[in-house]
Amino acid sequence: MTDRYASFVQSGAGRALVKRLGLPDPPRLRRHTPGDPLLPGPVLLGAATGGRLAGPVTALLTAAGVDVRTGTGATPPAAGHDVSVADGPAGPAGGDERAGNGGAPAGSGTPARFGALVYDATGITDSTGLRQLYDFFHPQARSVLPSGRVIVLGTPPAGCGSPREATAQRALEGLTRSIGKEFGRGVTAQLVYVTPDGDAGTATSLEATLRFLLSGRSAYVSGQVVRVGTGPAAAPADWDRPLAGQVVLVTGAARGIGAAVARVLARDGAQVVALDVPAAGDALAAVVNAIGGTAVQLDLTTADAPTRLADHLADRHGRVDVVVHNAGITRDRTLGRMDADRWDAVLDVNLSSQERINDVLLERGLIPQGGRLVAVSSIAGIAGNRGQTNYATSKAGVIGLVDALAPALAGRGISVNAVAPGFIETRLTARIPLVIREAGRRMNSLAQGGLPVDVAETIGWLAWPASAAVSGNVVRVCGQSLLGA
Ligand code: NAD
Repeated sequence: MTDRYASFVQSGAGRALVKRLGLPDPPRLRRHTPGDPLLPGPVLLGAATGGRLAGPVTALLTAAGVDVRTGTGATPPAAGHDVSVADGPAGPAGGDERAGNGGAPAGSGTPARFGALVYDATGITDSTGLRQLYDFFHPQARSVLPSGRVIVLGTPPAGCGSPREATAQRALEGLTRSIGKEFGRGVTAQLVYVTPDGDAGTATSLEATLRFLLSGRSAYVSGQVVRVGTGPAAAPADWDRPLAGQVVLVTGAARGIGAAVARVLARDGAQVVALDVPAAGDALAAVVNAIGGTAVQLDLTTADAPTRLADHLADRHGRVDVVVHNAGITRDRTLGRMDADRWDAVLDVNLSSQERINDVLLERGLIPQGGRLVAVSSIAGIAGNRGQTNYATSKAGVIGLVDALAPALAGRGISVNAVAPGFIETRLTARIPLVIREAGRRMNSLAQGGLPVDVAETIGWLAWPASAAVSGNVVRVCGQSLLGA
């Protein structure tokens, strides 16, 4: 459904009125179209003294066609390092606007404007070193272009060498979350923790993560913490088709978010097996006909669904590289008024059926080394929601499933992640009463609801073979909603 207020604000007359009255000002977000450059302007890259990632990040961004500048406007740091190796800093910490000329011609006097600010904070080993963040970001607070990006790279606190280092690295989260709330104009901010014990998979998944976060694919993702570990990640031949040759199952694909996931994954090169209930057969057929996929009409809650699905995947494809557990239902009532059928139906579709399917696919070895499971949770599973005890329980359970399965399947090279959508413009949210709907739409850093494609792009990134070293993450696609923040 359309957000009429956002359309009005984005018109000239609307903008003036909104500014005068101090009303929410939803910006037009930059979204991905194949062939787009990663960013609308250069990257300003900074590093704390002793950072280990600036070199490899410069190399991979430059190879991706990004114009990388350092704080002095000098030559970028030496390229070609492996992320597992400790590198020197990118150049003097604390770039400033006087020296860094960003998108402006040298000596033009035009203020610098950047598509993104990327800061390697891995060199910060105690709280006094956090001052380097201020020195870098303070002069650049107004230099980021609309729908630009801020990315801070750190070391996961659990992987730090001392309590002081762990403390300082944990502090980074406060900076990125605040920048996400402060910069406005569609600018998003994220923290990416990269393991210090990396392998080749770490480097590939760091590249995949940066490509996702810098691009318009991550339009509605902000204030998130992503962890890049180790795993059998493989770079694609073509980053515009990062799922080429992959067999992907998407449940609940007849409409809404699931249909968008099927379309985005097919656009990115996947062979999509789209599943939905028999009653949604016509809508499902329309989706698969449009993308050249295949349809499976199956109610996931029936006793023989896991074996029938496994038989289908084994017979037709011999494997399934990615499973996207998207099918979900709501049956809202406050707990005192909720009958047991509502509780059972929601828990069964949203959680138990995923477990049964995972069990059978894993037992039969249909998910190969490097395979990926991506589940759809919800911010209701993080924050809870009145009238949704059943739904929130099921969606918190999905997070529990990620926490438990990610380490359990690491040895088989299978990654497990979830997305947690916030307010997404679908039939589900169109049914919410007007006042509550408006509050849900505006109570986030981007002052608007997300689109199904925003969830689909995030699932797509987690589904890429290049993302296999990203596991155990729950990534909110909520525009940095205040709920559960
Ligand atoms: P939707 O109702 O439009 O689509 C869900 C699909 O799942 C439907 O096509 C439905 O037929 C299918 N499905 C339901 N039960 C099934 C079963 N037993 N077997 C097979 N298929 C079944 O919902 P949506 O808004 O697109 O949501 C998709 C997912 O995203 C759900 O898991 C939902 O909980 C989650 N989510 C949505 C939002 C939002 O704002 N729309 C927010 C947070 C989370």
